[in-house]
Amino acid sequence: MIDNFQNGIDPYLQRVKVLYVEDEDVIRDSIARFLKRRIKNLLLASNGREGLEIYKNENPDIVVTDIMMPQMNGIDMSAAIKSINDDTPIIITSAFNDEDYFLKSIDIGVIKYIKKPVNNNDLLNALVKVARAVSQQKEIEAKNEFIRTILDNNPTFIMITDIEEIYFLNSSFLNFLGFETFDEFLEKGKNVNRFMVVKEDSFYKGKSFNVWIKEAIAGEKTDCIVHMAGKDQLKSEARAYIIHANAIPELQTRKRYLVTFTDISHIECDRKMFQDLATKDALTNIFNRKKFEDELKKEIERSLRYNNYLSLIIFDIDHFKSVNDTYGHPTGDYVLKEITKLVTENIRKYDIFARYGGEEFVILTPETNLAGAKDLAEKIREIIQDSVFKEVGKVTCSFGVSEYVKQEDPAGFIKKADYALYIAKNKGRNRVKAVEKEHSFFFNLPY
Ligand code: GH3
Ligand code: MG
Ligand code: MG
Repeated sequence: MIDNFQNGIDPYLQRVKVLYVEDEDVIRDSIARFLKRRIKNLLLASNGREGLEIYKNENPDIVVTDIMMPQMNGIDMSAAIKSINDDTPIIITSAFNDEDYFLKSIDIGVIKYIKKPVNNNDLLNALVKVARAVSQQKEIEAKNEFIRTILDNNPTFIMITDIEEIYFLNSSFLNFLGFETFDEFLEKGKNVNRFMVVKEDSFYKGKSFNVWIKEAIAGEKTDCIVHMAGKDQLKSEARAYIIHANAIPELQTRKRYLVTFTDISHIECDRKMFQDLATKDALTNIFNRKKFEDELKKEIERSLRYNNYLSLIIFDIDHFKSVNDTYGHPTGDYVLKEITKLVTENIRKYDIFARYGGEEFVILTPETNLAGAKDLAEKIREIIQDSVFKEVGKVTCSFGVSEYVKQEDPAGFIKKADYALYIAKNKGRNRVKAVEKEHSFFFNLPY
């Protein structure tokens, strides 16, 4: 029941626009006078054609119409309105008892049929009911629009998926991928995988969307980070996104998830910077001594586990003090950087090259025996000897080489190479010396 509407104005009626179509002036005037007191936005028309025109221009929320009218009857007008917007509620008033008209109005989807002469309160009751439904629908649409605006304007990428398929991507995500609309995304392959950039430890490496998104949603991966390069973005410019997923609580046969991708590139950048600060030498940008010692322990363990060779080269620039003294410290720095460059270009990817001290460097060579390491040292010695250093001219280095033997601790392993370097210096510099495996014993005696 609708209560008290006669005493006050129903708030729902205040929010809707009503079009009332009636050709008989007396009836229209009388009902209009009654309705105007309760409906703020009332439009009037005196035949179907006029009604349709007003409908098109004014877009009313509810239509009340007579059937029998000149120009265009109420049924034809209603059918035309429904073809424009099927959701428009239409109330028909008629003295006409023709069953055909009645059935036709049901066909069209007329919401209410009121007999003429119209009882004002019956009409008002019907209008309030419809107005409430319309207002509620409008509220829901406004809320949806609000939520959509929030989702679309969020710089975080948002995806709705049931693992099998993607149902929504917010505007910022679509823009990043280079699509104007979600439909365009669907048309052009409904695929985000081709925007992903695979890094060495990417958890989605070689996996289809359904597989990796499932893992991401299940939270199986501690570091759920993906790298993506958007439209026109180079792979090297890929940014890092951390993934969070939440199940959407709704009754659906297949569960849907709201998955967010938050840009954490700046954090990654900072992390990389701190990592570099802790592990790299500032002048030469190769590993520092601390990092070398960590890597040395790992490589020793690996060589023991797989029974692989492991060798070490230590080298030191000859008479470097005089380079500094003669040409100045900046020139000395330049020589250190040039030598680093020459070595980096001539070792393998898995060799570990570090600055061990001032003008002393180490190269750890996994899966390489003493003979192989001596060859590498000799090659590098020649390359440095044959290079011409700006301003300084010739620079040479002395090299000490050793091979790891079982039971040896890291310090003993280094001591052997260091001893070989000492011999190389003593024998006249610019040469490679090694401690043979069988002499390792002497270096591992406890002092
Ligand atoms: P040797 O052939 O016996 O190795 O003689 P050397 O002069 O190279 O050896 P020494 O240990 O007497 O001198 C090493 C020099 O290296 C002294 C030091 O100033 C220089 N040095 C160490 N670190 C740096 C650096 O970062 N930059 C520059 N320019 N020089 C450095
Ligand atoms: Mg030196
Ligand atoms: Mg030295």
